[in-house]
Amino acid sequence: MKIFLAGGAGYIGCHTALQLLNNGYEVVIADNFSNSCPEAVKRVEALTGKKIALYEIDVQDGAKVKEVFAQEQPDAVIHFAGLKAVGESVQQPIRYYRNNINTTLSLLEAMEATGVKKIIFSSSATVYGEENPSPYKENMPKGSCTNPYGWTKSMMEQIFQDVALTDPELSIVILRYFNPIGAHESGEIGEDPKGIPNNLMPYITQTAVGIREKLTVFGDDYDTPDGTCQRDYIHVMDLADGHVKAVEYLNREQGIDIINLGTGTPYSVLELVNAFQKVNDMKVNYVIGTRRAGDLPVCYADASKAARVLGWKAKRGLEDMCRDSWNWQRKNPQGYRK
Ligand code: NAD
Ligand code: UDP
Repeated sequence: MKIFLAGGAGYIGCHTALQLLNNGYEVVIADNFSNSCPEAVKRVEALTGKKIALYEIDVQDGAKVKEVFAQEQPDAVIHFAGLKAVGESVQQPIRYYRNNINTTLSLLEAMEATGVKKIIFSSSATVYGEENPSPYKENMPKGSCTNPYGWTKSMMEQIFQDVALTDPELSIVILRYFNPIGAHESGEIGEDPKGIPNNLMPYITQTAVGIREKLTVFGDDYDTPDGTCQRDYIHVMDLADGHVKAVEYLNREQGIDIINLGTGTPYSVLELVNAFQKVNDMKVNYVIGTRRAGDLPVCYADASKAARVLGWKAKRGLEDMCRDSWNWQRKNPQGYRK
């Protein structure tokens, strides 16, 4: 079975490509490298000893996507291709709406034109919004997002819901990711953010390696046990395995389904920093700062549906996540740009 990964050179995409190849699937990647580079794909090929058909295209370009579909004839699509920086989306909402919605429409049009019926979509816990209490369950109504990035995910979910009604043969899985961190245990692939990281773990690892002077913990006056925000951190290799299970599910079921990919266990910012220091036997320079606008105090999954319908459960713990994130950063201090 051949899987087309839109945005497959990125952080989650390349780990998923690796696990798909390891499970006997063929992989085609289309990426414009706006937030990634071909080196990640080369490393996945080296780790697996398998070839990936790689196309440098903008997935917004429907004609190009259709050409690749005609040539490669994929059986299913995984749609990772999106812009994801929350703060940047507030500064550049038009760019975010254009890129994220257009990539979705162009993939759906190419599927319709070529008879591809199966797609997995990378959504986010952010769609639960401010109204819902954690643990988040898939049957909760979506809430209000605090930024344009979140709204693009919410709107794209709606697009998939509407399209699902038009063709009973379609099989669509919306995966709502929680907070992916970690890297493949080899340290050959990992998260390689451009510029100053927005997310916690790459900020920690870049501080640990000396690229950043200190981490700022955004607020310690939340209504949580230690006052810092709690999140559901999930190892990116567990997330990748979740996609392999979701591909199996696409082959079994038709219609549309929404599934959380999280561990169900929240950890605070300070718990993560302390676990990182302990596992890697090092100090991370940090200060307590003010709250970051838009941050929710607590966000974690009810992970029971993924266990029930996919037969998937996260296997790796916080220590694995901290060790593997550091192993990647340590071996690649400048990311893929050595
Ligand atoms: P990433 O930026 O590493 O990967 C996205 C990839 O898509 C990049 O390789 C980028 O170059 C590519 N891309 C973007 N626009 C494109 C376009 N128009 N044409 C072709 N390629 C394009 O991000 P990631 O962390 O791997 O996330 C993958 C998906 O999962 C994204 O849709 C993201 O919004 C979603 N998601 C990520 C997180 C997270 O914390 N990492 C959480 C929830 C959801
Ligand atoms: N965070 C922090 N300092 C940073 C980056 C993040 O204290 O430099 C906190 C942030 O306030 C949140 C948690 O770490 O509570 C996870 O943030 P991230 O941006 O990684 O993910 P989010 O859950 O916001 O999507």
